[in-house]
This record gives sequence, C-alpha cells and structure tokens, in this order.
Amino acid sequence: MSLYQLTAKELHRKLCNKECSAREVTESVLGRIDACEERVGAYVTLDREGALAAAGEVDKKIAAGEAIGPLAGIPVAVKDNICTKDVLTTCSSRMLYNFRPPYDATVVERLRSAGYVMTGKANMDEFAMGSSTETSYFKKTANPHDLARVPGGSSGGSAAAVAAGEAVLSLGSDTGGSIRQPASLCGVIGLKPTYGSVSRYGLVAFASSLDQIGPFGRCVEDVAALYGVICGKDPMDATTARRDYPDFAAALKGDVKGLRIGIPKEYFGPGVDPEVKELVYAALKELESAGAVLRELSLPGTDHALSAYYIISSAEASSNLARFDGVKYGFRAEEYDGLTDMYEKTRSQGFGDEVQRRIMLGTFVLSSGYYDAYYNKAKLFQKALRAEFADAFQDCDLIATPTSPTVAFRLGENTGDPLKMYAADICTVTVNIAGLPGLSVPCGLSQGLPVGMQLIGPRFSEQRLFDAAYGFQTIRGGSLCGIPALA
Ligand code: GLN
Repeated sequence: MSLYQLTAKELHRKLCNKECSAREVTESVLGRIDACEERVGAYVTLDREGALAAAGEVDKKIAAGEAIGPLAGIPVAVKDNICTKDVLTTCSSRMLYNFRPPYDATVVERLRSAGYVMTGKANMDEFAMGSSTETSYFKKTANPHDLARVPGGSSGGSAAAVAAGEAVLSLGSDTGGSIRQPASLCGVIGLKPTYGSVSRYGLVAFASSLDQIGPFGRCVEDVAALYGVICGKDPMDATTARRDYPDFAAALKGDVKGLRIGIPKEYFGPGVDPEVKELVYAALKELESAGAVLRELSLPGTDHALSAYYIISSAEASSNLARFDGVKYGFRAEEYDGLTDMYEKTRSQGFGDEVQRRIMLGTFVLSSGYYDAYYNKAKLFQKALRAEFADAFQDCDLIATPTSPTVAFRLGENTGDPLKMYAADICTVTVNIAGLPGLSVPCGLSQGLPVGMQLIGPRFSEQRLFDAAYGFQTIRGGSLCGIPALA
C-alpha cells in the first residue's frame, strides 16, 4: 500500500513511530497527483515547493523529538475561495485570476500552526455557485469514480482530490450543500459545520449568513480531527461562537444504542432516485440492528426550501460581489470608455453566466417593491423552518436523509438547465437555512457510483454526528471510502 492511500490517522501513527517521514508522505501524494491530475483536474493551483518545505519543517520537529499533532505532515487541499497568503486564490473566476491574498484565512492560519502540508488550491464552481464544478472559469473536474461524470459542487475539486488520493484531507465551503453533495457524489465524508462554529475570516463571501467552511476526509476520525483544528471563536469573525469544543476525534464513541434517528418523509419523495432511497434505508436498518431507534417524521417546510435558498443566497451574493469592480482586485476590462463603462465591461467579462444570473436575481429580490414579496418572505420562511427543526429534535437526536437525490450526473448533462441544476440541492439547503450541522457519509454504490447519507443534528451537535457516523463506519467494517483505480 502506498502512503497516499492511508488516512491521516494512520499516517500520524507512522510519523510518530518514524516508519516514514513527512517528506515521503508528501512525495507520495505529489506522485499520485502526477499520475492522475490530468484526468481528474481537482486543482486550480498546485504548490509543490510549499508542500515539500512544510513537510521538511515537520520532519525537523520529529527529528528534534518534539511532539506533533494529528495534522502535522498531512497533505491537505484547500478550496480556492479560502485565502492563502501569497498563493493564488481565484474562486475559479476570471475576476480573481491573478489575486494573491496578502493574508491567510483564519482556518489556514490554524492549519499552518498545526503543521499541515498544503498541496494546492482546489477547483470549484465560480464563486461557489453551482453543484457540479462546471462553472469554473479554468477547468472541469471529473469524478474519480467515473471520469465522464461530475464530482458535484461547488467544492468538487476538494472532494475529488480526497477521493482520488490526491490529498489526504481537504477544506471546502458549504452555502447550500457544497461540501455534502460533492462528498456524496465522490464517496467521501464531508461535514458542513454549525453556522458560527468555524471562522469565515478569509473566506471569499458568497452568502454570509449561510457560508461555512468544513472538512472532507476518508474516515470519520480524520474529519473529526480536521474540524477540531479549524473550529472555535475567532476575534476576526464576530459570528463565531465562544464555547468549549471537545477533542472530537479522541471522544469518538461507536455505540449507537438508543440513538433516536428521525426519518423525514419529505426527503424520500418522488424527486429522489429509488436506488438512492433504498441504499439510505438499508443503512438505517443496519443502524437499527445495532440499537438505534428509527422514527418517521415530517418536515413540511422542505417544499419551499429551494425557493427560499435561492432568494436569500442570491440577495446576499449580489451585495457581496459588488466589491469586484475592476478597481480593488483582479481583473479589469482592457478597453472602456469612462468609469461606468469600465465597471460594466469588467463585470460582464470577469463574471461567468451563473454568477451574473445570481447577481441579477439577487438585485431583483432586494429592489424596492419586490423586497417584501420575495426577500422578506424568504426570511420569514427561514424562521418557520428553524422552528420546525427544533420541534423535530424534541423527538429525535438526529435526522437522516439522502444527501443528493441522484448519483453523479454526466458532465454537461445539466449545464443547459439551471433549474435542474438547482434541484441537486433539494436535500441540503434546509440545513444551511436553519444554521445546523450536516454530515454526509457514503452508504453504498448504485451502479458503481457512490451514494451518501446525510445526518443532521441540532446546533453544535457535531460530536453526536461524528459518533453516529463512526458507529456506522464500525458496522461497515471500519472503512467507508475506498480510492478508485481511475479506469
Ligand atoms: N449548489 C448550491 C448553489 O449553487 C450550493 C452552493 C454552495 O453551497 N456553495 O448555490
């Protein structure tokens, strides 16, 4: 077995026992990148030199007999909307094609202190708008399980990198499903944390009230360890909560006895592929055999969630993206006639179609005369949905649903039909609207393609999600994610 195939947990053990060096780990992952990146296309930018230098630092510590943390020397891919000092951060947009941030995002700073090795910046949908990574200005990313299919999105590069062994772990961001849906489609584990548990300082904003950075990995322990490093109060982000976070990975319990799992009927409706439903039901039955208690419930608000999500997220995006005007950052149109023309040309040429569509929709729902009819209505719905979830959690500890209504679709299959693309988010957007944590775990293959089960909990119940997922991983023999051969 090559080093790139191991989990962070296994690599940490080897590093501590001096069975391998951090440099060897990084070289193994870089070798895997050389072997398959041309076919997968997970990265926008690679940072080989930076990676080897960071690995060298870890090796020095080990040689000096210093103790190292669980992420030291572990190769991690970072989504390209998370600021990395002096390393290109493009949001996969022409608008930021040359943007090198002068500072690190808080999550990156924390990972750096933990001794991680950044392999590079992962491809994504432009400004995180999309569900297939096809709106990237730079390249398409392929699903490692079937190269003719999408990896999901918008964090498709982060999910594909981990699935293909081109990184051991990665960071993504999730505004309406962008960590969980690609995790599901690529057969890896992905967590969208509770809103306010991870700092957004240095995350290029899409919809600030919904955005949250989170981890991808190939085992529950790894995802818990990475989350443990990035979560916590940050003075640079006033929305982060001050609270004590446990050592999630160390506290993992695989026992699901007595765990009450709610099954909302709206997430198993006609829009969801029958085979996806069957695999999720089968996984739930296994949890039941291990002692979990299943109960059906109803979350009727789900029916309006997509409309509310696209109103709220586009409204916030139209405001957040106003800063890209050809003056402050990145791209500026070459020819123009005066200031207004420069703005217009820069924004029409710098943003792709999907981003422009969202800006127009957002500007519309915020304009006077429509504000009450759309934006305010969506915010009222948000309140009602939060109450609906709070009610549901009176009777259950967790809620389980499919993560995505279908398996990975073919590249190009949905690009001509934005509404069909938006439907990919039907199972995930409610979690963001309600500010809850959601975890996607692989639960089987449908015609060779991964299917994910989503576990949703009350705010700040990440440990409970990890425990349930760990229990499931144990039931499945200790491993949920294999690295495909890339045929
Ligand atoms: N697919 C959704 C969208 O296009 C979610 C994006 C996200 O979570 N960043 O808005």
